[in-house]
Amino acid sequence: MRPRWWVPLRDARAYAFVCVCVCVCMYTHARVHVPRLIRSSLNAAANTRVGQRTSARTTTTTTTTTTTTTMAQPHDEVLAAQEAHLNGLADSEERTIFDKIVSKDIPATIIYEDSLALAFRDINPQAKTHFLVIPKIRAGLTRLSKATEEHKMLLGHLMYTAQLVAKQEKLDAGFRVVVNDGVEGCQSVYHLHLHVLGGEQLTWPPGCPPQ
Ligand code: AMP
Repeated sequence: MRPRWWVPLRDARAYAFVCVCVCVCMYTHARVHVPRLIRSSLNAAANTRVGQRTSARTTTTTTTTTTTTTMAQPHDEVLAAQEAHLNGLADSEERTIFDKIVSKDIPATIIYEDSLALAFRDINPQAKTHFLVIPKIRAGLTRLSKATEEHKMLLGHLMYTAQLVAKQEKLDAGFRVVVNDGVEGCQSVYHLHLHVLGGEQLTWPPGCPPQ
């Protein structure tokens, strides 16, 4: 036989237990299921776009004899940036694919190298010539907006390298230097990099979403 004070105490414990369970469920849902749901809906949207592009490309190929280009559509980068953001890669200090290129753990077409910077061809070119210039040591520069006073010299060196390699690539008629920052800037690799694009007439403005 329990004493009379036990009944409210037992109810309070049961109530607390239910509260803890609800909190754990909500936390798990927010941390695991919500990002997964968002990711799968993004993937579905991307697959639809890829499907649309494929059918558009097929139509073009059957009606004309124009060679199909291997350049990726800009929206792939939007998706990649959103995925990197959702996967928590943004601003993380984790080793990136560019660190592996610097350490030669994975291959890349390196076109320039000095003690501070490395330039290599973009695997998914958005212009006839498209290469990236990166600092060999990231030094906290996951993105441009992380720059501090101490980075000024390195940033200048990267800009200088961009034009040096552009000359080497014979981009005498002009080129464009782009730095994507953060998810809305379409950044997918969190190791600062300068995109250098050229080799043909570029258009302007860049990167406006279809309305
Ligand atoms: P961003 O979207 O500004 O972060 O640009 C990242 C760029 O890195 C994209 O243009 C990718 O095509 C490029 N990229 C990713 N992996 C590689 C790789 N293994 N080799 C060369 N370029 C890469």
